[in-house]
Amino acid sequence: MTTIQTAGFFGSLELDRKVVTALTDMGFEEPSPIQSQTIPIVLEGKDVIGQAQTGTGKTAAFGIPVIQRIQTEQKGVQALIMTPTRELAIQVSEELSKIGRLKRIKTLPVYGGQPIDRQIRSLRAGIHIVVGTPGRLLDHIRRQTIRLDSIRFLVLDEADEMLDMGFVEDMEEIMRHLPETRQTLLFSATMPPTIRALSKKYMKDPTTVTVNREALTVPLIDQYYYETRDKLDGLCLVLDAEVSGKLIVFCRTKKSVDELASSLESRGYMADGLHGDLSQNQRDRVMKRFREGKSDILVATDVAARGLDIENITHVVNYDIPQDPESYVHRIGRTGRAGQKGVAMTFITPREYRQLKLIERVTKSKIQRRQLPSAANVLERQREVIQSRMYAVLEQDRFHDYQPIVSSLLEDYSAEDIAAAALKLMQEGAKATEQEEKPSFGNTGGKPGMVRLFLNIGRTQRITPEDIVRSFAAEADIPGNVIGLINIYDKFTFVEIPEDIAEKVISIMHRSTIKGYKVSVEPARARD
Ligand code: ADP
Ligand code: MG
Repeated sequence: MTTIQTAGFFGSLELDRKVVTALTDMGFEEPSPIQSQTIPIVLEGKDVIGQAQTGTGKTAAFGIPVIQRIQTEQKGVQALIMTPTRELAIQVSEELSKIGRLKRIKTLPVYGGQPIDRQIRSLRAGIHIVVGTPGRLLDHIRRQTIRLDSIRFLVLDEADEMLDMGFVEDMEEIMRHLPETRQTLLFSATMPPTIRALSKKYMKDPTTVTVNREALTVPLIDQYYYETRDKLDGLCLVLDAEVSGKLIVFCRTKKSVDELASSLESRGYMADGLHGDLSQNQRDRVMKRFREGKSDILVATDVAARGLDIENITHVVNYDIPQDPESYVHRIGRTGRAGQKGVAMTFITPREYRQLKLIERVTKSKIQRRQLPSAANVLERQREVIQSRMYAVLEQDRFHDYQPIVSSLLEDYSAEDIAAAALKLMQEGAKATEQEEKPSFGNTGGKPGMVRLFLNIGRTQRITPEDIVRSFAAEADIPGNVIGLINIYDKFTFVEIPEDIAEKVISIMHRSTIKGYKVSVEPARARD
């Protein structure tokens, strides 16, 4: 036991005292598994492929040995680090500069969207490590504002993400330019075959270090699921009755991020959306608001949130159930960091139950079922707030405009009932008067239990049934086997889908694209 513990301390690795002290100052007490396994190999000068899920400390796994081996007195950039996004470039650069603080290592993040002149000026001032997105790095390399002859380390960070974002050509071009003698490190949460292929081509006999999944499940995260047909209402109830803190809410598509963020905002929550279509400025603003606590709900796609290290996330919400168990683990790994307790909540429709069970099985975790809070639970939590607001209004004594309404209501109802109804109206607004009814699609000509949808594309666009099934599955998370009859005509297509998911499918698929064609999706109208 003692030997294992001693081996865990950074001091037992062959590291400069300045580096160990900096790590201690950062609050790092011992290396994480990916760090203790990769650091010695990198220090030996070997190429390494490191695979471990988000939040396991991959940045320091390459950062510590690279910083250890940087020669501060030598001129020119010595390490090039590629990251998929601007936010990650900044984050990685900051972490490396902390690790290298006592060694006086200079790091610089470079990314598109920031004036290149400013970056060029900083580069001239003497930088040891440049962290950047592939596009902008390539830009500097072409302008020769980053000279390559002094580069000894290349790191591909979050490599799977970079490939997903279509950076492969830029990455390859950069690697072709770099000196053969460099050491190459590749870190990734997943290892698709494309990464293997890339590493074969550009790495020298790399050692692969994998931290397996069992070691990764996070015991400090309470995991719940809520089953509901109306996720928006369900989420709002949970927000009102149970949750306070900082939340990340995951949605599957950019469109659903936008929609959820604006629905939440219109219901009075401080929510912002984050996805790849935002401009850099918008993304910066969103992240700043969230970090500073000006918004407390970040609605994001997996890609946009991946790799971001935001402190003190108390809750992760899976508003759309993750596509696979791995991404479930990635998502919930955002909370419960640094020994703090976190909560993961997954909203499912009845149809998504099987997918939830699969996640539970593969991740070997227990996701407990929870009942949605009732309006009474919400009121209970808000009782004091409501009471003190009411006191304030009563004491101001300026509500007499409303008294004639009360007088006429008093002819039919008691004062208590009227007051309670008024509070309901105040709390729930227009929703208080809505009938609780499922949306009706009228007669769409579908089989019982099914809704027939009308799509304005067809044979002319060379649409096949497989295209329909594939894009419904990808965009709206609809398993192919629940889709009913598909009839493709020249200019339009009919698709039958189960009634209980029709609303969701329409809202996601309408104005989305299938095979590159913008499509309009609406309930069909049967000739009756
Ligand atoms: P990954 O790249 O694997 O997603 P990061 O490198 O972003 O993970 O690390 C996640 C968080 O853990 C960061 O806040 C980082 O500072 C912290 N961290 C990394 N290594 C350690 C360590 N050995 N001890 C304590 N905290 C650490
Ligand atoms: Mg990382």
